[in-house]
Order: sequence, then structure tokens, then C-alpha cells
Amino acid sequence: MIEVNGDTQILGLIGSDISQSKSFQLHNIACQQLDINAVYIPFSIAKENFTASMRLLSSINCFGANVTLPFKQMIIPFISQLTEDAIKIGAVNTIKNNDGKWIGHNTDAQGFINAMKEMNVIWNDRPIYLWGAGGAARAICFALQKIGIPSIYCWNRTETKVETLADIIDIQAYEVSQTLPDNAILINCTPLEAISKYPYQNNFTPYQTVIDLIYRETPLLEKARQHGAETINGFGMLLHQAAIAFQFWYPDTEPLSIMKQNIQERHQ
Ligand code: NAP
Repeated sequence: MIEVNGDTQILGLIGSDISQSKSFQLHNIACQQLDINAVYIPFSIAKENFTASMRLLSSINCFGANVTLPFKQMIIPFISQLTEDAIKIGAVNTIKNNDGKWIGHNTDAQGFINAMKEMNVIWNDRPIYLWGAGGAARAICFALQKIGIPSIYCWNRTETKVETLADIIDIQAYEVSQTLPDNAILINCTPLEAISKYPYQNNFTPYQTVIDLIYRETPLLEKARQHGAETINGFGMLLHQAAIAFQFWYPDTEPLSIMKQNIQERHQ
């Protein structure tokens, strides 16, 4: 247990609906086990109080924070310096206080890359199909571009939004009624969880890989697994992006295995 004193650094999660977040346990256990004198607390903020809240966080010398919906873009005007990932993704999910000025970063793309590496996903020459064109899809497109994928196919409910990803990666809209090639990789970047709402009831094959960014097993993954496809949920990405955020605040630390062990113990 951290013994809070006058030197304890304040970390937290800025968002409007954060009660279900796993960030509190992940970051507090890392602080405890790495002997860092900091606590990670909720900053549950209503939209209309956002500006005042950001001023307050600066004035109490908040050390750093994660940022979630609906503030990932709203926070940008408060940031003095954005990392390349935050600029490319166009959203900030982690901030760090640097002598009274905020540095804004986005850990989603690298979190995805690290998680996929850990799962030994083979990308080469496989066609990639993406569902969604929101914030997470943007981060995934940037991740794919970083690992050298030249082009992808994308479906989004609002068709015109597919084009907004074209500044990151070569992208083509596709018709969801089409059968995916045998070696395709499908990545769900929407919050859709009910199978009746999925855009197409695909029949998967054993050579396909289906990745769902949702943090748990979903009917999409279950169906893909029944057909023998490789399946990956968003849990690994969640852990890796959290570990990268922690290292953004505290370079030279290794929080990943601590976070992983803690979350596995809690969910056994
Ligand atoms: P977002 O910016 O709000 O984008 C949501 C996307 O889903 C948009 O493309 C939207 O389409 C689509 N969508 C929403 N409701 C839909 C519906 N009823 N039917 C069809 N499409 C629908 O959200 P986000 O930040 O990208 O998050 C997307 C998902 O990724 C969430 O489940 C989130 O939890 C997950 N995520 C996971 C991680 C991780 O670490 N594993 C990280 C980030 C996000 P329109 O453009 O038509 O509105």
C-alpha cells in the first residue's frame, strides 16, 4: 500500500463515464510494486466543466493522466506539445505534466503493435479488413502503417468517414456482403457486440485471423473460433497501451508483467 504524503504524485483518468475502467487497478498496482510514490484516481468530469477541470489539474500539479471519452480530442487545445502518435491519430489518451505544460501522447497504436507481436500475428501479404472509422480505427490504421502494411479495406456505418483514414494509410471501402479471402485478417474497431448487429454474418476459415478490440470474448470471436480461425480480443492491447502510458510518465520502469499478473489474478 502506498503511504500517501506531501510528495505523493497525482495520476488519474480523465473522462465522463469511467466507473468500469480497469486503469485504476493497473496503474495503482504498478505504482505500489515499483515503489513509485503516486496514486491514480478518477477525474470524472462533465463536459461543461472540462476547461475549469484542466486548469485545476494544472494548478494542483497533477503529474499525469489518461484521457478517455469524450475528451480525447477536446483536450488538444490544452496541450503544449503533441507526440507524433498523437498528431497522426488526432487524439490524446495520455498526458504528462512537464514543468506546468502538458505533453500529449496516444498509446493505442503502439499498444496494438506490441499486443499483436506478443500473439505472433503474421501479417505478410495478408489482406486486412477493418470495421469502423472512429478513434480506435485511426489508431489501428497508424499502427498498420507503422508495421509496413501498404493498404487495407474498410467498412464503416457512415460510409463517408472511411475517407478520413486515407491520410494515414491507403484505404478502400469494401462491400460487407463480400466473402473475405481465405487468409484475411478482420479487425473490429466498432463497439458492436450483438451478432445481429454485425455488418455481415461471415463464415470464417481456419486460415483467417479475427481481432476484436473489445476487451473480452465476443460473439464475433466465438463464431470465428467455431470455424477454426485464429481469434484475439482487445485485452492484450489494453494492457500494452496502459504499460506504455505508465512508461511515458516513468521511463525506465517495466510495468507490463506486474499489470498482467494483477489482472489475471483478479479474473481467475
Ligand atoms: P468511436 O471513436 O466512437 O468510433 C466508433 C466506431 O464504431 C465508428 O466507426 C462508428 O461508426 C461505429 N459504430 C458505433 N456504433 C455503431 C453501430 N450501432 N453500428 C455500426 N457501427 C457503429 O469509438 P472508438 O474509440 O473508435 O472505440 C471503438 C471500440 O474500440 C470500442 O469498443 C472501444 O472499447 C474499443 N477500443 C479498445 C481499445 C483497447 O485497448 N482494446 C482501445 C481503444 C478502443 P459511425 O462512424 O457510423 O458512427
